Amino acid sequence: MSDNNERGLQSNKEDLSEWYSEILIKAGFIDFSPVGGFIVLLPPAMFIWDKVRDVMNKEMEGMQVKNAYFPLLIPESLLKKESEHFTGFTPEVAWVTQAGEQKLEERLAIRPTSETIMYTMYAKWVHGTSDLPLKLNQWNSVVRWETSSTRPFLRTKEFLWQEAHTAHATKQEALQQAVDAIALYEKVLRELLAIPVIKGVKSDKEKFKGAVFTYTLEAMMPDGKAIQMATSHMLGQNFSVPFEIEYVDEKGNKSYVWQTSWGISWRIIGAMVMMHGDDKGLVIPPRVAPTQIVIVPVVYRGKPDPTPEAEMLAQELSKVFRVGLDTRQDKTPGYKYNEWELKGVPLRIEIGPRDIEKGTVVFARRDTGQKEAVSRANVVQKAQELLDDIQNNLYAVAKKRLDEMTVRVDTLESLKDVVNSRKGFAVAGWCGERQCEDQIYEQTGATIRCVEEQNEGSCVICGKPARYKMYVSKAY
Ligand SMILES: [Zn+2]
Repeated sequence: MSDNNERGLQSNKEDLSEWYSEILIKAGFIDFSPVGGFIVLLPPAMFIWDKVRDVMNKEMEGMQVKNAYFPLLIPESLLKKESEHFTGFTPEVAWVTQAGEQKLEERLAIRPTSETIMYTMYAKWVHGTSDLPLKLNQWNSVVRWETSSTRPFLRTKEFLWQEAHTAHATKQEALQQAVDAIALYEKVLRELLAIPVIKGVKSDKEKFKGAVFTYTLEAMMPDGKAIQMATSHMLGQNFSVPFEIEYVDEKGNKSYVWQTSWGISWRIIGAMVMMHGDDKGLVIPPRVAPTQIVIVPVVYRGKPDPTPEAEMLAQELSKVFRVGLDTRQDKTPGYKYNEWELKGVPLRIEIGPRDIEKGTVVFARRDTGQKEAVSRANVVQKAQELLDDIQNNLYAVAKKRLDEMTVRVDTLESLKDVVNSRKGFAVAGWCGERQCEDQIYEQTGATIRCVEEQNEGSCVICGKPARYKMYVSKAY
């Protein structure tokens, strides 16, 4: 029987998606609720989301983006004002049509996103240049009635996210804001969740329907499917015209504002789980780990009990780190090791009678499984070094894998081979035509995840000069 089977856990290399659903329950990240397609977020996962929120709030403060809150319900007439946007969402909108026994005069949408309700208010607040830029963010949840089967964090009918909406006097300022936002997301993913991404622009087919264009960050999962991690939309004047968000400049001329919106959702937690997990369970990057260090005293009958020493150590470490102490007497050390490994705690410290004699403890790191004896006197400093090293190593391993899974191709055959057999991003030239984009999907089941401008080579489908370098893959 393999180690993996003893834990009763699916191997993550054999079937990542099976492993994923199982580990989220076993590690206590989520549970399924009585409402189909809606999940319960449990404390360890909520902790990670809160960490992301703390860091994002600080970063947004630096961008002069302020938090606010807008209503959950949006009148249908508002949602319809920007027609492209509305068409994009119609199939997924959940409606409130009745209150008590009373049928409502106008249907109210449960927000699928808040552009329309926010911009109605922006029109009321923006008059002159001194009202600009206007930059508000909300941490909330939205509902999009997905019909395909539920996958926690990646496909649920309600999800947590952050949506920022900005209005600017000039196009240039708005463009810069869209760029800054996507750079912020890239930083958060790299520094907190140790997730490397490809940054690019969505094709017209894949972009947010109300946007002029959409920046995106795409991460590659170990099984060869991409996950869209965050998007930042240049809205141009697509909303400010129908919503009449106008300002009068110094010369007395009326102009419509230029806008952006950008969001990141809890799907980044799902990506983190897939990205770093292994056959033993979760591997949580130290910076977001609810428990960074767990201390396990190893008790031997007839030998001095190391528990008091473990308690002192826990107290000492708790001043700097998030520490757990496992003194359960009805569980063996082996059982405890398995459980904390499954939950992804980055560093385990074992302390037994022999260690006390020698003035040492044993460090076991979750990412590589390596163990080393550390002098008791150096534990705090060594723990800091090791946690930093784990954080960096997780990113380095993920980056190396992303590079290996990003393959340049020159023919449709090799594109098919990469997305279907070798798994990963196939990188190729694209003319920019919708026809060729549709061809790719029909022939491979994969989509263009993002593009970069490029003026060399030819389209891998039609052979015309390429306008873009595209990244093609299957996606969650
Ligand atoms: Zn083409």
